[in-house]
Amino acid sequence: MSDVMVRAENVHKSFGSLEVLKGIDLEVRAGEVCCVLGPSGSGKSTFLRCVNHLEKINAGRIFVDGDLMGYRERGGKLHELGERDVAKQRRSIGMVFQRFNLFPHMTVLQNVMEAPCRVKRESKADVRDRAVALLDRVGLGAKTESYPGQLSGGQQQRVAIARALAMRPKLMLFDEPTSALDPELVGEVLDVMKDLARDGMTMVVVTHEIGFAREVGDKLIFMDGGVVVEQGAPREVIANPQHERTRAFLSKVL
Ligand code: ADP
Ligand code: MG
Repeated sequence: MSDVMVRAENVHKSFGSLEVLKGIDLEVRAGEVCCVLGPSGSGKSTFLRCVNHLEKINAGRIFVDGDLMGYRERGGKLHELGERDVAKQRRSIGMVFQRFNLFPHMTVLQNVMEAPCRVKRESKADVRDRAVALLDRVGLGAKTESYPGQLSGGQQQRVAIARALAMRPKLMLFDEPTSALDPELVGEVLDVMKDLARDGMTMVVVTHEIGFAREVGDKLIFMDGGVVVEQGAPREVIANPQHERTRAFLSKVL
């Protein structure tokens, strides 16, 4: 494993004439939790999607664990990877969205087993054991045979986290994982994420949960208008923001 888990260099992304990412540079070391804050529309989700190559960037480069995402470098030139190779790169990156997107017709256990079974390098029994252990870990050991519709939003999001972990990712991306939840359910999801962080998982977390960023984050990135306005140790940035835009944003969410 390389020491740096994510390195983004001068990442640019446009949709048509709309330039959404205007040169993002960022580094997340292995085992770090990097929290990304910023107003709506600042490009946070787009950036996460670029990291696992769900979006193709227009300029710059993104490395995950030393692997150039989406491309192969040969003779000083970049060659786009085929779908299979991209899928292989993506497999080591777990993603959790605001909406849990569980398969409604599958049980909780089947949801967690689905991806590793589809990839088919492991026996079903091994995948099942791991899935049960993961569901235990997120506090849902008693819900393996339930269907998503029978669970609360917080429980569904914990299943979504277990499902991402079932692929044994080396990096987890979270895009506002608690924004769609009723306030009383936010804590149980943050607790699972905290436990993951304590266990050494490298995480990039887009969130408005300042308390989580302060307590769990190793690094805080503040984005606005497609650029990283400010970054640093969460406590320092939150207590003493250096830029007016950061101050204005924090005064609204604190
Ligand atoms: P954030 O997550 O910070 O709220 P997003 O990354 O979702 O911001 O969006 C940044 C900007 O990019 C917004 O103006 C949004 O409308 C635009 N955008 C995002 N995805 C697309 C897309 N697929 N096509 C066109 N515009 C998009
Ligand atoms: Mg977003």
